[in-house]
Amino acid sequence: MKVEIVTTGTELLLGEILNTNVQYLSRKLNSMGFDVLYHTTVGDNPGRMRGVLEQALERADIIITSGGLGPTRGDITKETVMEITGTDSYLDLDTWGRIDAYIRKRTGCAPSENNEKQAYVPIGAEILQNEVGTAPGLWLDYKGKIFILLPGPPSELMDMCEKQLWPRLLQRFADHGIILSRTMHLRGVGESRVAEILDDVIMQQSNPTIALYARYGEILIRMTAKATDSAAATKLLDDCEAQVREYVEEYVYGVDDASLAAC
Ligand code: AMP
Ligand code: MG
Repeated sequence: MKVEIVTTGTELLLGEILNTNVQYLSRKLNSMGFDVLYHTTVGDNPGRMRGVLEQALERADIIITSGGLGPTRGDITKETVMEITGTDSYLDLDTWGRIDAYIRKRTGCAPSENNEKQAYVPIGAEILQNEVGTAPGLWLDYKGKIFILLPGPPSELMDMCEKQLWPRLLQRFADHGIILSRTMHLRGVGESRVAEILDDVIMQQSNPTIALYARYGEILIRMTAKATDSAAATKLLDDCEAQVREYVEEYVYGVDDASLAAC
């Protein structure tokens, strides 16, 4: 399943906040075996957001957005997805009741009029309840693809994912396997030399894939295996690690959490 993560918000483009949502979502989705192929970030601009989402629809099966579900006019993610999919919305009274209760409990005041915007749900969408905020998340099946809309605040996004989205995705795509990675740490050798030594192995290897990364003072070899379950992925990684070690054993000082300082 090809996934594109679209993070929205002009503040991200301005560098005012760190895009932690994309890191959280990518790590989790990869660990569950989804192929996260694209990260896109777009500001709160209707035309550009529409362009980005249409592009995502062409190249991914699952499009996950974060942000832009708030009560203000600048929050346009839901409205843009509705435009693309030609979907109308209705006022979901259950969601409105939850928003009303949440705001009264938090502030002691009635919600503002614009909060009602958050209780409008596209027809046919499933609601991912927000238990720690006001904007509900949304899951919308569209022409064999899925739009998943998540709120921007990381605490709300993560709570919704852990309690609702991950179980739902795993249930829907139960048979698509998992991805495991293992990283070997090397010192005393340069990246180009390792690339040369391992060239044949890397070229022949498609599962696990092998990638090299140069870091300060060390070279990392990351192997990423895809399999039906954890045991099968671990076996693929064990075999690959043994093969790689035949070529670079003298430089390897650790695997995964190893650090030079601890050597
Ligand atoms: P929004 O739902 O777009 O109104 O976003 C609400 C708040 O969530 C923003 O002001 C940010 O503080 C935070 N936020 C939005 N997107 C992200 C992101 N990609 N990573 C981390 N924080 C975010
Ligand atoms: Mg925003």
